[in-house]
Amino acid sequence: MSKRITLPKFSVGVGDRFVHQAKAQLAACIQAAEAGVEVIPVWNKSNREHMIIGTEPSQTRVAADAAVKALGWKQPYFVDADHINLKTVERFLEPCDFFTLDVADEIGKAARAEDVDAFVSRHPELIGEVMIPRIAEPFKTDAAFVRAVANKFLAAVQDAGNIYRLIVERKGEGTFVPEISMDETDAPQTPVELLIILAAIADEKIPIQTIAPKFTGRFNKGVDYVGDVAQFAREFEEDLAAIDFAVKRYGLPENLKLSVHSGSDKFSIYKAIHDAVVKFDAGVHVKTAGTTWLEEIIGLAEAGGGGLEIAKEVYREAFAHAEELCKPYATVIDIDYAKLPSPQVVDGWTSEQYTSALRHDQSNTAYNSSFRQLLHVGFKVAAKMGDRYISALNANEEIVARNVTTNLYERHIRPIFIGR
Ligand SMILES: [Zn+2]
Repeated sequence: MSKRITLPKFSVGVGDRFVHQAKAQLAACIQAAEAGVEVIPVWNKSNREHMIIGTEPSQTRVAADAAVKALGWKQPYFVDADHINLKTVERFLEPCDFFTLDVADEIGKAARAEDVDAFVSRHPELIGEVMIPRIAEPFKTDAAFVRAVANKFLAAVQDAGNIYRLIVERKGEGTFVPEISMDETDAPQTPVELLIILAAIADEKIPIQTIAPKFTGRFNKGVDYVGDVAQFAREFEEDLAAIDFAVKRYGLPENLKLSVHSGSDKFSIYKAIHDAVVKFDAGVHVKTAGTTWLEEIIGLAEAGGGGLEIAKEVYREAFAHAEELCKPYATVIDIDYAKLPSPQVVDGWTSEQYTSALRHDQSNTAYNSSFRQLLHVGFKVAAKMGDRYISALNANEEIVARNVTTNLYERHIRPIFIGR
């Protein structure tokens, strides 16, 4: 096999809905490099986002390449076909070199009985007292438990195998980074379930470099984590231990690491992620997405004049179509409608009032997480504005870029990867 493309230890997924912020995002990775930590950018955009906005994956590639060239970035970078499946992968094949195989829909679909039997008899090490180095208490399992987990996940892993092999057929082995995502499902996976899933992935011969489980707690779009941070921290460490064990036991790629589909802005667990990664000398991939789009709106609002008008118009329309906009994201938003200001009130706001409500600064009493979540899903409104929105971005390029870079570096990269 030829040399395999490998994802470095630390990487950040960045979303660029309107393909105008790649340079500003890359500038944040350059700041990290200047601070002594290599954080590799991965531009991620799901099929759903492309559909809503009307963009093509090839545009993400063009924007990423242009940003890298303009800023002289010499380290690796990737374009991620985020949450694809057999039906949607086609247009991502050419421009992408990172594929997030989404098998959440297959989770829970019964696998073939003979496959489950074969899995259970192939893995006696998963039955009984399962000792994983660095996890204090051994997991206690029995054959019935392993069978139940296999039955829940095996069909999904086999489905990932089908997608993986299709991409290999079209692009060649080792030419892309494969990730398996299971985050968009209802129940979180425990560390021992993760271990069983990794055994199945190794059996299916998918050389994944990242895996995105569903973690405990709520990961609402664009706002902070809701859940038990201590429990998250404990499970995150156990996941790292399980991965370490699976790499050695099942021969998965050495650089396999967790991928956190954060939904952006999970500030209260960033320290736990950083501390665990340091403790285990592990890598991590953290995907953000909509946070950059919100910085575009913040930048426009801060600019005043026509920019502020556009920001107000986006809110007015998002408010009017809240139900429709929220629908595809129903499980990952938590808007308190009583806390949404009326568009008439927002129309009277200054730049300062608008940015204070929207910017994710929890120490600011004017910060409004419902307002922020509605705008987070409101990018469809800006997409409908078409050229008017893009012209506003162009006219206010500098102030928007400053917000995008500062947000990504100060609020995300620094706490997660640098830790100070
Ligand atoms: Zn995800």
